[in-house]
Amino acid sequence: MEMERRFAGVEACRRYLFHLRWPEGFVCPHCGARQAWPMSRCRWLCAACRYQASVTGGTIFQDSHLPLTIWFRAMWHITSQKTGINALGLQRVLGLGSYRTAWALLHKLRRAMVRPGRDKLRGVVEVDETYWGGEEEGVVGRLTEKKSLIIVAAEEDGAGIGRVRLQCIPDVTKSTLHSFIAQAVEPGSVVRTDGLNAYYGLEGYRHDRRVQRAQPDGKHLLPRVHLVISLLKRWLLGTHQGAIGPLYMDYYLDEFSFRFNRRKSVSRGKLFYRLVQQAVQVDPVPIVSLSNHNIKNPSPPPEQHINILETVL
Ligand SMILES: [Zn+2]
Repeated sequence: MEMERRFAGVEACRRYLFHLRWPEGFVCPHCGARQAWPMSRCRWLCAACRYQASVTGGTIFQDSHLPLTIWFRAMWHITSQKTGINALGLQRVLGLGSYRTAWALLHKLRRAMVRPGRDKLRGVVEVDETYWGGEEEGVVGRLTEKKSLIIVAAEEDGAGIGRVRLQCIPDVTKSTLHSFIAQAVEPGSVVRTDGLNAYYGLEGYRHDRRVQRAQPDGKHLLPRVHLVISLLKRWLLGTHQGAIGPLYMDYYLDEFSFRFNRRKSVSRGKLFYRLVQQAVQVDPVPIVSLSNHNIKNPSPPPEQHINILETVL
C-alpha cells in the first residue's frame, strides 16, 4: 500500500530515479558537466554541451513503452517476495495484457541484478560444477542444446556460506574453469575444488584440492557449494517450474545470486532500493550479447525472443 501511494505517478518515479542515478546532483552523461537547466518531463539541458538528458536514458528503462509506474510495481513484486515471482504471476498482479510482456520485463530486470564492478569473492572459496536440464545419451562434460553446465563459487563464512557467484559455462576445460575463477575470486584466496584435473595449475591462488577417498563417510567434500546447488535447483523447480533452457539460464542465475547474496537483509525495502539503484547504473546492453556472453559457439538465438525483448517493452 505504501509503495502504491508513494509511486502512484510517473513524476514520483522519475524523482526517485534521479536521486539514485545522480545522488550528488545532475551529471551530463555526454560531457560530464554538472550544470544544466531543467526542461519538461524530467529532462535536462546540459549547459556545456546542450545535450538533452533524461533520467531514464542510458538505463534499462530507456525507450520502454511501459510507464515507469508499472516498472516500479514490478520491481516491488520481485523484491518483496523471498522466492521471487514468475512471469505468469507477475502478469496477474500487474494486470498486464500479455504473458510475453511480463516475461520480457522480468528478464530486463534480471539484467540489473548484477552490480557493475561488484567485488570478487575472497578468503576460502569452494568451486564446483553442476548440470541442469534433460538427460542426453552419451554427453559428458560439455554444453548441449538441452542442458546447462553451471559453475558455482561459494565463500566460506565460518560454518556457513558467504556470498556466491554462478554462471553458465560451455565446458569444463582448464581455460574455462580458470577464467571463471579469475573473474569471480580475488587473487591470493584459497580455492577449494574436487580432484578434477582441469583445476590444476591455478595461478595466483592457493589451491586446496579435495579428493573423495580422504573424506570420512557421509561428509561432503564441498558442503557449501553443494548446498547452494540444491537451493538453486529447488528455486528453479519451485518458482519457475523448471522450465528454463540454456539460452536464458544466466538470467536466472543472476536473480538467484542477487537474492542469495542479500538473504540476510531484513528489509524488503532495501532490496527494492538496491534493484532500482542498479537498474539506473546498468547500460541497456543488447539482450543477445548477454545471453551468449559465455557460450563459445552459440547457436543463433530464437529471433522471436529478441524481438520480444526489444519491442514489447
Ligand atoms: Zn554535456
